[in-house]
Amino acid sequence: MKDVIVIGSGFAGIASACYLAQAGKKVIVLEKNESVGGRASFFKAEGFSFDMGPSWYWMPDVFEKFFGDFGKKPSDYYELVRLDPGYKIFYGKNDEFEVPASSKELGQMFEQLEPGAAAQFDRFLEDAKYKYERGINDLVNKPSLSALEFADPKLLKDLFALDLLSSIEGIVAKYFKHPKIRKILEFPSYFLGATPNKIPALYSLMNFADLQLGTWYPMGGMYEIIKGMKAVAEELGVEFITDTEVNGMDVVEGKITTLQTSKGIFQAKSVVAAADYNFVEQNLLPKSYRQYDEAYWDKQVLAPSSLIFYLGFNKRIENLRHHNLFFDRDFTAFGEDIYENPKWPEEPLFYACVPSKTDDSVAPDGCENVFLLMPVAPDLDGNEAIYDRYLKMMLSRISDYTGVDLKEEDIIYKRAFAHQDFKDRYHAYKGNAYGLANTLMQTAIFKPKMMNKKIKNLVYAGQLTVPGPGVPPSLISGKLAAELSIKHCKI
Ligand SMILES: Cc1cc2nc3c(=O)[nH]c(=O)nc-3n(C[C@H](O)[C@H](O)[C@H](O)COP(=O)(O)OP(=O)(O)OC[C@H]3O[C@@H](n4cnc5c(N)ncnc54)[C@H](O)[C@@H]3O)c2cc1C
Repeated sequence: MKDVIVIGSGFAGIASACYLAQAGKKVIVLEKNESVGGRASFFKAEGFSFDMGPSWYWMPDVFEKFFGDFGKKPSDYYELVRLDPGYKIFYGKNDEFEVPASSKELGQMFEQLEPGAAAQFDRFLEDAKYKYERGINDLVNKPSLSALEFADPKLLKDLFALDLLSSIEGIVAKYFKHPKIRKILEFPSYFLGATPNKIPALYSLMNFADLQLGTWYPMGGMYEIIKGMKAVAEELGVEFITDTEVNGMDVVEGKITTLQTSKGIFQAKSVVAAADYNFVEQNLLPKSYRQYDEAYWDKQVLAPSSLIFYLGFNKRIENLRHHNLFFDRDFTAFGEDIYENPKWPEEPLFYACVPSKTDDSVAPDGCENVFLLMPVAPDLDGNEAIYDRYLKMMLSRISDYTGVDLKEEDIIYKRAFAHQDFKDRYHAYKGNAYGLANTLMQTAIFKPKMMNKKIKNLVYAGQLTVPGPGVPPSLISGKLAAELSIKHCKI
């Protein structure tokens, strides 16, 4: 019998397995898909290599810390390059803005838009730095099982400085007036799954991550991180079994005894559930052992889902950068289509990632690898006709702004991925892409809890629990789950 079974091999599952194995535990990871990585999966087609999920490598310090905990460095597994410019924003035709790697240079560009903005930007970044240091070195590492974890005098003193009760929109508006500057500084909110007026100002720590720590890219693609983490885990003795779906858990006297899977029965002293929290509770556990019912889940504010296209073009697309944001439509109306009155949007904003701008290995010579992502409300029904309508819309806007005429005939490879694919591939609740929105009432102690009060040997990890969505938080979630397992599950 193993000490721990980890369900799911995303960032949270692999991280958890590494820390458990380092503590001397015998660990097995069960993954339903054909390969490990979860939402950070990867595939090859027609000479192109596509990362399926995350594409922004932010907070390099979190990855250094992870590999460092095992006596390694990211560079032992992949080569990181810093992108400069970090990204490009299209506000409309002949109206674009490239965000340089140097924050000093960016401050000067802001100054041209708004007199006095360079000095304001220095102050804004100073404040964001403080929040980053407190947030990433301290707050994020709390499992948030109880409010008492936060009852330290320093934190109480800090409540004002951390701006928990105001919003990103509010804090940005306090420093800047120009709408373009505001849009740039509000952009990281969208990673957190809600509009900037709903995300606590504490998360301006993301601006520090974005504009000071920088946007990086692991050559070969984001999947190189997964490969590196898997190598660390295997060196520590972790066993990975793919194509193995957990279908149910037997609980006897408040302890999981057996996991029913597509490959038969597995047993371990304890379980880390790093698959989507909702799926684990509602589908794998007997009803009496669930902590939350469907009504609870239905009330949670989910981060958007996504309509994604993985595209291989037979030509290069000049004037695009590695990361491109299309902020050329009204944010408020788009936000309403996602959050207030969920429906397929009239005028979507979208994002284009073109890793072949940095990395020749991801596309054949003379070709371009393009990942288009359009945020959409969760739980919508889609079909090919709807997806194609949006593809045409996005290509037409890209053509218009870059001056490169893009037609469907230029596409050598095309794959769409949306709600039902998220459900089928990851068991994603309502087809969510990034878990729960990080609103104040869904932060820390208000998130679904990492421990199951009714089951002694079950801990949850991943983007639907603490600390939240994103690659760095999922890594941290895996570490917290390993610590809780060791402390509370008596393994
Ligand atoms: C399109 C997209 C773009 C993103 N972009 C970024 C970005 O640029 N930067 C960033 O930091 N973050 C980004 N994110 C968020 C980030 O990728 C996720 O927060 C993170 O990868 C989640 O990791 P996880 O381990 O919690 O979950 P997952 O990666 O979903 O892992 C859960 C695993 O559990 C498996 N599983 C589910 N049910 C079972 C079962 N019954 N039995 C066995 N296995 C099961 C699933 O197959 C999956 O492999 C993005 C996410 C998406 C979807």
